[in-house]
Amino acid sequence: MSKIKKLPRALDGKIIGPAHHFAFKDVHTCSSIVAMPPNFQFTKVILHFVEMCFGLIAYDAFAIPSFSEKLEQQSETVFQTLNIADKSHEIEKIFIFQTSNAHEADRKMSFSDMATQDSYHIRGLLKSYELIAARYPRMKVFLFYITLSEDLENLIITEIIPGKPSQVRLFANYMFKGIYSCETALVRCIEFRTRKADKSLVRNYFGFDTFGLIGLPGASKRFLEGSESAWQSIRSACNTDGCKELIVVHHSDCGAYKGVANFNGDQVEEEIMHRKEMEKFADLVYSRYPKIKVIPVYARIDFEEATIEYVLIDRFN
Ligand SMILES: [Zn+2]
Repeated sequence: MSKIKKLPRALDGKIIGPAHHFAFKDVHTCSSIVAMPPNFQFTKVILHFVEMCFGLIAYDAFAIPSFSEKLEQQSETVFQTLNIADKSHEIEKIFIFQTSNAHEADRKMSFSDMATQDSYHIRGLLKSYELIAARYPRMKVFLFYITLSEDLENLIITEIIPGKPSQVRLFANYMFKGIYSCETALVRCIEFRTRKADKSLVRNYFGFDTFGLIGLPGASKRFLEGSESAWQSIRSACNTDGCKELIVVHHSDCGAYKGVANFNGDQVEEEIMHRKEMEKFADLVYSRYPKIKVIPVYARIDFEEATIEYVLIDRFN
């Protein structure tokens, strides 16, 4: 990392919040990836669940809707992400979460009843198990199905274990009965090294305790590449009807853009490129959803000082 040129602080933008501690100074790989839905109702509970029940600390968070269906449909977004996780981050475990639509206003949608829906999703999870085992033999697969109790008061996470009875792993109060949209989503990279700081920024600087989490390699990169999976994520994350803002966070040394090495260690050139990407993303969101405001933020990692500094990009605000 000694080749990295020190940033002049002349790049415009407002540094927001205190510098965060960067806990992964010489760490470039992590052991796990969590493939999860981006819905605001579940992101917090899923991340707490994997941290508390499985002791995960360094893990990528890949948040898109219907992971299993997309895997089966050979989605480019899914395989790009798994390839990055596998080759760049040397992932050994994948935790896959699927939700029923018990939390949606129209609960049953295309299913005749909840039992039919449950078996459809569980079959999808088991199929994911086979597909990942065949293509990424290094990865150990864990499967979880999330649904709500009949009265919508409780959230239930069941572990699906191939060839064995399923096990309820979490039974907790459901906090969002009757709430079908939220105003904010965070669009971020799957990157494990900045996850906690990104979420802390949204909570403590922007003041949103509840928000959807869209996690894709390179944050807005897949949106710019025209991925429909990415665009669908906004609807799932917070429901576009109620969404008022998307906080998009790109970060330095992003593997999806081949890191700072791709810019010969020049962090200024790297940051300029990321700012342009976020600008294009803001324009695209505006053209699709003129009422949704995009708030672009750049996470500058200072490897020597082991800090992350967040810069709000002024020209949009
Ligand atoms: Zn990244």
